[in-house]
Amino acid sequence: PKYVYDFAEGDLSMADLLGGKGANLAEMTVMGLPVPPGFTITTEACRAFLATGAVPEGLDGEVDEHLHALERAMGRKLGQADGPLLVAVRSGARFSMPGMMDTVLDIGLTDDSVAGLAAWAGDERLAWDSYRRLVQMFGTTVLGVEAEYFAAALRDAKRAKGATGDLGLDTDDLRVLTATFKDIVRDRTGRDFPQDPRAQLGMAITSVFASWHTDRARIYRRAEHIPEDLGTAVNVCAMVFGNLGDDSGTGVAFTRDPATGAPGVYGDYLPDAQGEDVVAGIRNTLPLHRLADLQPRAHERLMEIMAALEGRYRDLCDIEFTVERGKLWMLQTRVGKRTAAAAFRIADALREEGLIDADEALRRVTGAQLGRLMFPRFADTDRTPLATGVAASPGAAVGAVVFDSATAVRRGEEGTAVILVRRETDPDDLDGMIHARGVLTSRGGKTSHAAVVARGLGRTCVCGAESLTVDAEARRFTTADGTVVAEGDVISVDGTSGAVYAGGLPVVPSPVADYFEGRRPAEGDELLRAVDRIITHADRRRRLEVRANADTPEDAARARRLGATGIGLCRTEHMFLGDRRVLVERLILAADDNARAVALAALLPLQRNDFTRIFEEMDGLPVTIRLLDPPLHEFLPDRVGLTARVAVAKALGDTGAPEDLLRAVDRLHERNPMLGTRGVRLGLLIPELYDLQLRAIAEAVSARILVGGRPHVEIMVPLVGDARELEVVAAQARRTVADVARESGVDIRYRIGTMIELPRAAVTAGRIAATAGFFSFGTNDLTQTVWGFSRDDVEGSFFPTYLAKGVFTVSPFETLDREGVGRLIEIAVREGRDARPDLTVGVCGEHGGDPASIRFFHEAGLDYVSCSPFRVPVARLEAGRAAV
Ligand code: ADP
Ligand code: MG
Ligand code: MG
Repeated sequence: PKYVYDFAEGDLSMADLLGGKGANLAEMTVMGLPVPPGFTITTEACRAFLATGAVPEGLDGEVDEHLHALERAMGRKLGQADGPLLVAVRSGARFSMPGMMDTVLDIGLTDDSVAGLAAWAGDERLAWDSYRRLVQMFGTTVLGVEAEYFAAALRDAKRAKGATGDLGLDTDDLRVLTATFKDIVRDRTGRDFPQDPRAQLGMAITSVFASWHTDRARIYRRAEHIPEDLGTAVNVCAMVFGNLGDDSGTGVAFTRDPATGAPGVYGDYLPDAQGEDVVAGIRNTLPLHRLADLQPRAHERLMEIMAALEGRYRDLCDIEFTVERGKLWMLQTRVGKRTAAAAFRIADALREEGLIDADEALRRVTGAQLGRLMFPRFADTDRTPLATGVAASPGAAVGAVVFDSATAVRRGEEGTAVILVRRETDPDDLDGMIHARGVLTSRGGKTSHAAVVARGLGRTCVCGAESLTVDAEARRFTTADGTVVAEGDVISVDGTSGAVYAGGLPVVPSPVADYFEGRRPAEGDELLRAVDRIITHADRRRRLEVRANADTPEDAARARRLGATGIGLCRTEHMFLGDRRVLVERLILAADDNARAVALAALLPLQRNDFTRIFEEMDGLPVTIRLLDPPLHEFLPDRVGLTARVAVAKALGDTGAPEDLLRAVDRLHERNPMLGTRGVRLGLLIPELYDLQLRAIAEAVSARILVGGRPHVEIMVPLVGDARELEVVAAQARRTVADVARESGVDIRYRIGTMIELPRAAVTAGRIAATAGFFSFGTNDLTQTVWGFSRDDVEGSFFPTYLAKGVFTVSPFETLDREGVGRLIEIAVREGRDARPDLTVGVCGEHGGDPASIRFFHEAGLDYVSCSPFRVPVARLEAGRAAV
């Protein structure tokens, strides 16, 4: 294979082979922009090197050839004694990994050529400063000498001179320092700093290859989901000098403001300096427009070039440039990173300028960015956090600390903002979480119960803040340094950064969230206008409908304001908790029909009212109500506590109720409740429960119709594994609805369908569709049952290892596993639709709001996704992006 490409031989499309930096340098060269000449060694050569530990056959010869061409073009030879050519050897992978891998500047300087550089530049200090920098940079990155040896020698030299900065060292000092640096190289490595320029080049190239595997590069790749096996390209580029006096300098620039997206160039310039000095912050930089006064011609050229780059890339570009004695050189460009706000403004502005069309503008923004714009945030602070945990659910929450769900509910209802602090949360904490502004736990990660539920609720959450000791009994937690925070103390939880602070930090609301709740953008508000135009286009384009998971009238109303066109999942379990739990307890334990009827009579009106109010909020739109799903024992008292109560009652000579209850709890106890008596199994075991719900639904529908409403109810049966289970419930629904219709004289329409959340349901979907009018994929349970692991337990145990070992790059509970779970979904959609062409197919569960998963659901041909109300705008945007 060909391993080396001259800059003039490549272009933008070759980024896989030439890396991002190389492809962009090539593109600029081809555009005729002033790039110092050079060539790129391919990522393929790097991969060969990493696989074998040796440079591949033929590479050296190719490098020689291209080097000679470069020397001819420059009219100077690498490292020649008079007026040497020097080169930069620069890393550059497919995906930008800024500063993560090695770059060595000034290759070609030797004891001989340093004088030649001095004569050529007319600047002896520059030559010796460059040489000592080369020995230092080469010594650390290529030869692996501890940086501290050089740093110490530099400190000594400055101290001896009484100098405060590098500029205090004169030519002689730098000459001596270079000698000292070379001694360090000899002492530490047992060999001399190489005096053969070509050998320097070869060593620098292999060292850049090898820097692919440094720890920091690995950590960066893991965080950014960059594959491990790409390798880096190496760019060899003629050096240009920004440090040749006042008519030289170096800078970085953006073609628009990367923080806000505002139009107009933006950048920094540092006169008489090399690029690395800008990053090192040695001197204060000047704003870019000052270049217009200092170097009007270079400035004018730079403005032309920036416009040309935007025209070519049709996007925000960032660039590195150097001015050498008034002449402008382009050292780098790429499509620039930007904030979420800037992404929206820039995409919309480019569309308005006609550089891209509306579909492309939509592709340029992401749901994750929109999500970030919707969360309120803390104003900047320099306070030290009490602790830092996993940023599990973004937002900025301030409130008084509480340590149990009941207190959160009580104080929340009183109107106090509270933060629920737990070691970890469980389903019983749900009510408390609903009433809290934020949730803080000391255990668990991004897919722990607390994190998943908080994201679903749109609650701010930091979890796994392991330095905290939470003592719920004593109602306090303690930080690593012994600070005690007691119940009622106010803290601030930053779900975007994972930091937790004492006291209340000022919060800035998100105007974007306000906009989605109905506020129209003001004339001058460019961000909101951009969001508005882009989301409008997404709505026009998307084929997926977006519904919401909402269990309360308040959530339903909010979801509707945010653009949901129905409820895809109305859970009913919380309707049986709290005060109503005792009614359910009575129902389950009822000794005879009479006792059961009494319990039912008490529950029915409550449940009917729940549904009526939700139908009211969602009038005219579908509402999918899921019949009771969780394991029975969740409605019964805690076994341990009950055992204790029974023991006490017995000691007091009291017999009866608690003991019956304990027997029932014992009877219903399951080792593995997730795979036990739940969902439709519960419905078949205790038909009265589903009867109650079916009747409440039917009565709510008829009540709405009688007052002129348009309820569209869909009754959803959970955890079906076999068509027969659904048939039993469907027959039951027919009877109950017919009864209610007769009693009320109203014609009640409804659809019945099922969750597809067991592999067996997916592979027998054709049979199930004979009875089901709709499918809704419960991807949380389906993921658990396909993989055979429990979402609530994996986080702290083997998931971190699996992520580290690359078994998955992202948790299958966060982003749908296409290969496994996705395949079952495809089978079920196909076979379900074959059996019933008008089958409606949707998805509820966490994945319904996840950008990557939404794309899959679009491709799999689903009709809708359903997600938490807060995620609805994100899902609308992503559904639009999937369609363009
Ligand atoms: P990174 O990817 O970490 O930014 P670069 O390869 O861009 O690394 O190089 C780092 C710095 O070295 C750049 O900011 C630039 O100023 C300087 N540099 C790179 N190539 C040259 C060159 N040919 N001439 C002068 N300076 C250069
Ligand atoms: Mg750079
Ligand atoms: Mg489920």
